[in-house]
Amino acid sequence: MDLLLKGMTKGEPLLVVGLVDTETVEKARIIHDTYPTVSAAFGRMISGAILLSSLLKEGQKVILQVIGDGPLKEVVAEADWLCRVRGYVKEPHIHLGLKDGKLDVGRAIGNGILNVIKDLGLREYYHGSVLLQTGEIATDLAYYFKVSEQIPATVSLGVYVDTDNSVKASGGFMIHALPGVSEETIEYLEERLKGLRTVSSMILNGLGPKEIMEEAVGLPLDIIDRKEVFYYCPCNKDRVMDTIVALGKKDIEELVEKGETVNVMCRFCKTGYAVSQEELLSILKAIDRQSEG
Ligand SMILES: [Zn+2]
Repeated sequence: MDLLLKGMTKGEPLLVVGLVDTETVEKARIIHDTYPTVSAAFGRMISGAILLSSLLKEGQKVILQVIGDGPLKEVVAEADWLCRVRGYVKEPHIHLGLKDGKLDVGRAIGNGILNVIKDLGLREYYHGSVLLQTGEIATDLAYYFKVSEQIPATVSLGVYVDTDNSVKASGGFMIHALPGVSEETIEYLEERLKGLRTVSSMILNGLGPKEIMEEAVGLPLDIIDRKEVFYYCPCNKDRVMDTIVALGKKDIEELVEKGETVNVMCRFCKTGYAVSQEELLSILKAIDRQSEG
């Protein structure tokens, strides 16, 4: 079971979030048929969205989007306050060589922008954008927190892809220095994080989110929140029909003229929906009734 934990260090105001989401990222890999470099990039984006979702309130959602000039072009991951996550990649079949023994996510993404969009409910949105610093996602998220939210933060993400292309380990941690944290603690943390092993090696060694958080900060923690993580897409036929309605009368009439069943695939979960000619005609009738009324 994939798990997200949120904690506070005893004595010092450090917010620490830990995550193991190996099953979720493996599921995303299977749905989107991603090659290893893309699996690593996508996994880090998924984990990043989940870490950010730990800061949401009931009913809210966060969307991460990376647009770069590298071969991956675009990666999107979104997570809601219940740690339900989904996403998509524009180019699933990219695989580059290793860099320093790691999958070269930075080169695959290239230069570009990280967008952070928060759906705060009641049609209220927050939108923050930063230039990518490395394209490795974790450092870009830390930079986003510093620039857009004025929060000193550390983000570490790791995905390990096995030789059979399956995801063997995925997760991460995030530390926020809250107001009132001492200078000594900041210096201590900076030193400690320099010598830290990668998150993926921690997970491969069987560590859970709590052990990852403890290894990251080396300080006693109180766990304040715990959520199960899973890949979830809320799409259904009604939503597909809504997107057809949104095409407008002229486009729907063109679809009717073609005389074929329209096949729509959800880009988040790859579920296919067939919209029949009868259904298209009933949508047209409903639009006509609406314009008459
Ligand atoms: Zn879907």
